[in-house]
Amino acid sequence: MNKEKFIRGIPKADLHMHVEGAIEPEMAIALAQRNGVDLPYRSADELKAALDFQCLQSFLAVLKNLVSLLIHEQDFYEVTFNYLKKSSFQNVAYADLMFDPQAHMSRGVAFDTVIQGIHRAQQDAEKEFGIRSQLIMNFQRDASIESAEQALDEALRYRDRIVAVGLDNTELPQFYTLFTDLFRRARAAGFKLTSHCDVDEPTAVDHIRGCFNQLQVDRLDHGVNVLEDEQLMEQARSQQICFTACPTTDYITVKDPLSDPYVQRVSHAAKAMLEAGLCVTVNTDDPGIMGGRYINDILIDLDRLVTLSKAEIVQLMRNAFNSIWVNEQERQDYLTALENYAETYANHGEL
Ligand SMILES: [Zn+2]
Repeated sequence: MNKEKFIRGIPKADLHMHVEGAIEPEMAIALAQRNGVDLPYRSADELKAALDFQCLQSFLAVLKNLVSLLIHEQDFYEVTFNYLKKSSFQNVAYADLMFDPQAHMSRGVAFDTVIQGIHRAQQDAEKEFGIRSQLIMNFQRDASIESAEQALDEALRYRDRIVAVGLDNTELPQFYTLFTDLFRRARAAGFKLTSHCDVDEPTAVDHIRGCFNQLQVDRLDHGVNVLEDEQLMEQARSQQICFTACPTTDYITVKDPLSDPYVQRVSHAAKAMLEAGLCVTVNTDDPGIMGGRYINDILIDLDRLVTLSKAEIVQLMRNAFNSIWVNEQERQDYLTALENYAETYANHGEL
């Protein structure tokens, strides 16, 4: 079996995707019409042209426009269901879905509306396609702590539907100091903890250290700058902290993702992390607005750039299934399916 086919068929988990980033351009235009929202783009092509991410800030500006389209429960349902359906067709057995309630509550959209729509999509997708998923609620690093506290209060009413809390949005300096108490409260309530540490942000290594030691995260989103610090790598290995790397790109460069400096940067980092024995995984981040690239596209391009052995591809998925927050029986079921697949196909027709 050739490697591309091997990648397409392998059982997968996607641990880092944002529901708000799963809005595809065509879907955005349809939602804008349906909800009467005035978007600065008149067609999917105009929107694709705007999705040229020079930096995190330009990306977040477009994202804000798109988030304004999500108003009704049905909107959240459709975006989530579309992602889960497409992912299940790419053999994703399990996905962690991130959502940002503050981005909606601040616009007057109720927490209940958001979570009901997403939850219904999770149930329907599991029933229809067998894909399992859980929710990670992210706090926004650049919003007020009061609004984060409010989101956490709401989340406690849905404790059984949310597995973890995380941090995303603009990476403020030493952001971890702002969230120490909130994370302590979330952990006491039984949530797992994760945080974004974006790639090559100023003082990235300090931020990773703060997330490890002050926030005591179970997982780190991106976090590839860990490679710059031997001690942090050792800590990550001994505490089995999982990193969710995302070699993603925008619509402008999607015709040749391999030439995108960010894709190159993260792909080489992911390979180095794998070789360093870190628990790294590869994920889609914002599949709808980042070139419409789902997990197979991401993995195939990763292989083209840094050449993975089949054993390394299996290891990436083993890392993912070992890092999800499920009961041991469910974990074993995923791992057994993965090992069976590897045994059957890894040694036939090696490239
Ligand atoms: Zn992200």
